Amino acid sequence: MGKKVLVTGASRGIGAACARALANDCDCLVINYLNTDSTAETLAAELGGTAVRADVADSAQVRQMFETMDRLDVLVCNAGISLVKLFTDTTENEWRKLLDTNLGGVINCCQAAIPLMVRQKYGRIIIISSVWGVTGASCEAVYSASKAALIGLTKALAKELGPSGITVNCVAPGVIETDMNAALTPEDRAALISSTPLGMIGEASDVAALVRFLATDEARFITGQVIGVDGGFVG
Ligand code: NAP
Repeated sequence: MGKKVLVTGASRGIGAACARALANDCDCLVINYLNTDSTAETLAAELGGTAVRADVADSAQVRQMFETMDRLDVLVCNAGISLVKLFTDTTENEWRKLLDTNLGGVINCCQAAIPLMVRQKYGRIIIISSVWGVTGASCEAVYSASKAALIGLTKALAKELGPSGITVNCVAPGVIETDMNAALTPEDRAALISSTPLGMIGEASDVAALVRFLATDEARFITGQVIGVDGGFVG
């Protein structure tokens, strides 16, 4: 039997690359998104999957997305937003929205997926964190906090779910060429490239290649790990 896979935030960027990388190894692919209906539907048609609109920050919408699912083998928690701002200028609405999406979204999806995986005694949960969750970034304090929280969540869930045959791992990308980084100035880009030992910005497919491996049975003994895809940014 082929696998059932759900990738959150899969209409664009890293999530779309993960959906592409996983499509051949599964017989049911769910492409979650929030706003970009036509992009998500075009990708779903190309990959033979289903596009499902749901705000991962909203537990009711997440429950609805899972309502018709009787099985789930691979959950990729990728949906996320960024916020580049001085910490003291960040409003309560802004930090709550960021935490609700980046941390709450992962909690909502894991809470919906885990009962299905426990029943199967099998599952792969892959959570997309960030190098900023490991090192912290100036003017991205709340984003860094949300991504650091995902590392704690990964390690704790790996312990809680190991006896149920479920692995939980975290992928921590460095700077990746997606819409999220569209606002970087040429100076910011140059600084980030020069802090990256491999001297370049990564592609979404670089992250997807690791996600695909973690979803395979070859990765069955890997759990509770934080694995960087960052060109050596975090030494
Ligand atoms: P992106 O190009 O901005 O794409 C974000 C994706 O998340 C889109 O598919 C978007 O859907 C979806 N999304 C946003 N909020 C959502 C919500 N509340 N519910 C459901 N879907 C939602 O971002 P990206 O660069 O690919 O980033 C993907 C993940 O990697 C994020 O968690 C990000 O923090 C992390 N990351 C990125 C980088 C980087 O350099 N790019 C580095 C480290 C970590 P719509 O298209 O419908 O809006």
